[in-house]
Amino acid sequence: MRLEDLQARVRAFSDARDWAQFHSPRNLAMALSVEANELLALYLWAKDGGPQPAEPGRVPHVAEEAADVLICLLNFADRAGIDLEAAMLAKLAAAEEKYPADRVRGQARKYDEYPEWKK
Ligand SMILES: [Mg+2]
Repeated sequence: MRLEDLQARVRAFSDARDWAQFHSPRNLAMALSVEANELLALYLWAKDGGPQPAEPGRVPHVAEEAADVLICLLNFADRAGIDLEAAMLAKLAAAEEKYPADRVRGQARKYDEYPEWKK
């Protein structure tokens, strides 16, 4: 399913319930943060090198919370008038320029933490 089709599906779900009245960009940005944190909470207190998430019972909820994040993001972009596909492709192109693969491969530093790049 294409991104715009998924977005239309989320819009139809919301419109059928008359929930658009609650879906300002601000409220949806907050909801997106809440859902992202629900996803994060599933990994809370997991040990480095241990199972992720720590509790096996949480595993099925990871996909559910990831889906909530996507639903909120699609809804946010729709209500905020953002072409999410274009925005993502532009951001990815900028990141490719900022982080040339042949120079950063295997490193996790931020772009301004490469002293050898400074002029
Ligand atoms: Mg959730």
